Amino acid sequence: MAMRQAAARLGILEAHPLKPYTTFKIGGPARYFASIESAEDLAEGLEFARSRRLPVFILGGGSNVLVNDPGLDALVIHPARQGVRIVREDSETVSLRIEAGEPWDALVEHAVQHNWWGIENLSHIPGQAGAALVQNIGAYGQQISEVFEQADVVELSTGRAKVLTKEDCAFGYRRSIFNTTRKDAYLISNITLRLRKKACPNLAYPDVRRWFEGAGNPTPSIQDIREAIISIRDSKFPFPREERGGNAGSFFKNIVLSDEEYRALERRFRENFTPAELARLRELRGKFDTADGIKIPAAFLMQICGLKGRRIGNVEVNEAQPLILLNRGGATAAEVMLLAMQIRQTIFAKTGIGIALEPELLGFTQSEREKYLALE
Ligand SMILES: Cc1cc2nc3c(=O)[nH]c(=O)nc-3n(C[C@H](O)[C@H](O)[C@H](O)COP(=O)(O)OP(=O)(O)OC[C@H]3O[C@@H](n4cnc5c(N)ncnc54)[C@H](O)[C@@H]3O)c2cc1C
Repeated sequence: MAMRQAAARLGILEAHPLKPYTTFKIGGPARYFASIESAEDLAEGLEFARSRRLPVFILGGGSNVLVNDPGLDALVIHPARQGVRIVREDSETVSLRIEAGEPWDALVEHAVQHNWWGIENLSHIPGQAGAALVQNIGAYGQQISEVFEQADVVELSTGRAKVLTKEDCAFGYRRSIFNTTRKDAYLISNITLRLRKKACPNLAYPDVRRWFEGAGNPTPSIQDIREAIISIRDSKFPFPREERGGNAGSFFKNIVLSDEEYRALERRFRENFTPAELARLRELRGKFDTADGIKIPAAFLMQICGLKGRRIGNVEVNEAQPLILLNRGGATAAEVMLLAMQIRQTIFAKTGIGIALEPELLGFTQSEREKYLALE
């Protein structure tokens, strides 16, 4: 009785379509689905799932997931609470608390309007603010970890609230505890970011530097930077709009290699590619520095392996930015995974590198994962 009331109050929906909640526009329904606004909603949702022995999955803006065609046998919880408020301020910095359901790009726009620096290069990344921590979103030389202060989270197994600091989150390239050691363990309720009031343009990334050199503008305003980033992204990265094809952003992660791994890659290049392609690899080495190692763009490997424009069914490798797989209308998750399998196996055969998928695979069985992720 209490359960039915809880479900009714929270408005838990059964067999609810997930496709509209994803930017790929692919996948089957959730067995149960609830939008949550408060800690009470979450507690009710968790109790509902516990009593039915159902797994819980948090779905934000659905821009970094691929839902399988049969859907998800789980309670899907969608954080809906939005809002941004100042929690601390001094002459140099401002700390903002942002509710998990706030659209990330609305936050960036807000910060840019107030001349608060630190996330302007992360303009036009889709998804929610809470989810931005999960893979430590990054673009054009900035990462959210650089401005992150703390997050309020709820442990899903116990319902306990906790505060996590930057150290607790163990951020790396597209990595944090939320997608590694503590994956699916927490709901991030809100995040606190510390932004700077003094101008600190980050123009080091090659595309951004070239843009402002071309524009003859060595001291751009924060608004100029946001506009430049949006234009650069738009020229190669289809912000999920239906006419340009559903997608989940980069479907593959860039490669980060140790010195030894890089030397092995050069050996494979000598065997399988032209001297010009080897020279290009050497040029790319060091161009995108990361603290984690030598970063090689996966798009480069896709291009020299002749994978641009490849298509299976209704899914296609995007020409302008081959890391993106496009849903050309009515695509299935199976088509996406078959294409991804072909791409990974081709690159592995020629370079010895198994490129990793960026979006999370939802509702795939173990045997489907093994089949699609096999490298040979
Ligand atoms: C066109 C396009 C461009 C993109 N560009 C970039 C880019 O430049 N850089 C980049 O880093 N990423 C990029 N992405 C990927 C994606 O936008 C980000 O990873 C984004 O942060 C995902 O947010 P979301 O709300 O859509 O998360 P979802 O896809 O809904 O979820 C992603 C993961 O986060 C978890 N999650 C979501 N919300 C919460 C929460 N409140 N608490 C706990 N866990 C949660 C989910 O369970 C899931 O594991 C791009 C995607 C697209 C479609």
